[in-house]
Amino acid sequence: MKLPEQGMPENAVFAALENFRKNDIRWKEGRVFGYVFDPGEQVQKVAKRAYTEFLSENGLDFTVFQSLERLERELAAFGAGHLRGGDMAVGNFTSGGTESIILAVKAARDCYREKKPDITAPEIILPATAHAAFYKAAHYLGLNVVQVSVDPVSFKVHPETVRGAVTSNTIMIVGSAPTYSQGVIDPIEDLGKLALEYDLWLHTDACMGGFLLPYFKRLGEPVPDFDFSVPGVSSISMDLHKYAYCPKGASLVLYKDKSLRKYQIFACAEWIGYTIVNNAVQSSRSGGPMAAAWAVLNHIGDRGYLDIARKKLEAVKVIAAGIERIPGLRLLAQPQMTLIAFTSDTVNVFHIIDEMNSRGWYIQPALSYDNSPAHIHLSVSASNVGWEDKFLEDLEECVKAAASLPESSLLASLGPMIKDLDLSAASDEEINGLLAMAGLAGQGLPERMAEINGLLNEMPASARKAVLVSFVNDLFVQ
Ligand SMILES: *Cc1c(COP(=O)(O)O)cnc(C)c1O
Repeated sequence: MKLPEQGMPENAVFAALENFRKNDIRWKEGRVFGYVFDPGEQVQKVAKRAYTEFLSENGLDFTVFQSLERLERELAAFGAGHLRGGDMAVGNFTSGGTESIILAVKAARDCYREKKPDITAPEIILPATAHAAFYKAAHYLGLNVVQVSVDPVSFKVHPETVRGAVTSNTIMIVGSAPTYSQGVIDPIEDLGKLALEYDLWLHTDACMGGFLLPYFKRLGEPVPDFDFSVPGVSSISMDLHKYAYCPKGASLVLYKDKSLRKYQIFACAEWIGYTIVNNAVQSSRSGGPMAAAWAVLNHIGDRGYLDIARKKLEAVKVIAAGIERIPGLRLLAQPQMTLIAFTSDTVNVFHIIDEMNSRGWYIQPALSYDNSPAHIHLSVSASNVGWEDKFLEDLEECVKAAASLPESSLLASLGPMIKDLDLSAASDEEINGLLAMAGLAGQGLPERMAEINGLLNEMPASARKAVLVSFVNDLFVQ
């Protein structure tokens, strides 16, 4: 892009921006099961107003912008109370689940550097269902990941499996409430006991469930304890930009007490310039997301959220039961919240997804990994309520349509070689050749994804990574 010599008029700017959106998924219709958590027009209006009113305020320096310090303290206090942290729990506002997780992992790492200085190669034990953000955090922060499989039927981690993976280098263990992948809640109480027994940092990843599960519990659902009421839990991540319906850029990272949070904070005094002390990864940061989060939480209010939770709970029950009735489909687990994972043993799930997407739905593919088969993921949100029957009707038809689609000839011709494809020594050109064969080279993004998903699904994880990096590295060029 080159800048226009003369600035564009306002109308032209917005026309161009709108045009960029023409191929985006149309989330406003309520047929998208992921990515956008739409609270409806009235709440959007409030969110946008608060967001734009605080757009230019800078969270870099809360002595100058005391409004933001106040907002952050109130949001964290809300989170601490919501997750039963008592008087001692503290927390901070972050840009999302990933940032919350990076900060909690950093706090754990630095805490154990001090507490157990003999550990020079710290390890974090991750169930295979722990979110990718922990791998990112470990990668950025120099921790070794020790991955453990989850139960192949319940998809929850067994505490005894975690125990078996503890070594003298372990500093941190993780459980999810619920897991993104199968929507089930790990046994946090048992993990808490392990954490106390071995003196480990336990993080509950409640990015998805932290906000919503307490409402489900109030509605009578059997929600196991996962929060600060569980002895042994040191930190929790809870996104506000998911089921609290705040605009994106809103999450909380919370700690049992200040003595643990201390390790999250970064200060720099060794440079020539202004004083730096940051709660979060970002330094300069807009006040928009924080103000909008405060506005949305207070505008919807407790009763409002309880109502939304009730509707979602009913919708999930209808959708899950409907999926079980469709010939060829099966749930991977009974959803414990609003995340539904299902698969087919007879029909290619990636074809089902393409068929659904071509009818204006968005449902998400998940590749097979460890003991989880390739499957379809739904995050059911407020805007999906009311679409249950139409969704199930279309899904049933799409399963039939997918069943009659031919299997990929490319996959058949590449055959078994792809199963142990080793790209560790492959050049970018060789990887590009592979992408070109899959119809994925140079010309942007394909409409139907079944072929590429099918290929990725057959590859070992190391080859998947090489292909993804190469693809994205080539996509974002001039
Ligand atoms: C969404 C999610 C994350 C990561 O959050 P982002 O906001 O996308 O960075 C982490 N853990 C779980 C369980 C999630 O659902």
